[in-house]
Amino acid sequence: MLVAGVDVGSVATKVVIIDDNRLLTLITPTGWSPRQAGQEAYAQLLSEAGYTGDQVDYVVGTGYGRISIPFANKTVTEITCHARGASYLSPGSNLVIDVGGQDSKIIKIDSDGRVLDFVMNDKCAAGTGRFLQVIAAALGVDVSELAELSAGQSPITLNSMCTVFAESEVIGLLAEGRTKGEIVAGLHSSIARRIANMAQRLGVTGQVAFTGGVARNEAVRQSLQEQLGVPVVVPKDCQLAGAIGAALIAREAILR
Ligand code: ADP
Repeated sequence: MLVAGVDVGSVATKVVIIDDNRLLTLITPTGWSPRQAGQEAYAQLLSEAGYTGDQVDYVVGTGYGRISIPFANKTVTEITCHARGASYLSPGSNLVIDVGGQDSKIIKIDSDGRVLDFVMNDKCAAGTGRFLQVIAAALGVDVSELAELSAGQSPITLNSMCTVFAESEVIGLLAEGRTKGEIVAGLHSSIARRIANMAQRLGVTGQVAFTGGVARNEAVRQSLQEQLGVPVVVPKDCQLAGAIGAALIAREAILR
């Protein structure tokens, strides 16, 4: 049995292949062409795994670019795939918080990873991964360095969470002599507050699985946990939750 899940996201394309013994993964930038990103990433992982496309039994596509995955047997919404993947990666969670490149999703799930309810913010980039990338660039650092930069710093209250205004506010704060660490600590707690407010609309009662690329930022996880008052768990393959969910749905499709 050989199945694949392909999640073409706004920032990163994720591919997961499941065969009889292995779960293989790849994360690569989406760039300007979702179609090309999906095709190239899929071909690369297949070749690394030693397979060709015609050996694959079933492919499920998901993500914002899922309509441009011509080799997928089926496309499935991000909500369904993220729920399924997060439940697999983090058993025991009844709420999934996924923060990606340009949207945030809060999904209430049952113990099998089925969607019970969800809320989503995809109207603006405020508080999402791309927002963090813009601010990191303004500070001359990489997104992967933000958590460490803010560790132990007192957060500054920021007035704006709109990407464009926040970027100029950050530049102004630097000019006033505020440190990068204080500014980033302020951003992390504002982002966590926004997400926590959204999550509370669905009710937060037990362990939360935090997924998506932004979950790789430990400072956001910590702040979210403080604001929600429940354990917030980041699974090892947090950014792959959607693609893993897609591959699991592909496997179910052929086992049915
Ligand atoms: P999408 O599915 O929309 O492409 P992802 O879930 O892949 O989004 O998340 C992409 C975001 O993850 C980036 O915009 C970035 O902010 C964040 N990110 C990626 N890698 C890291 C890292 N090593 N540390 C912290 N944040 C990261």
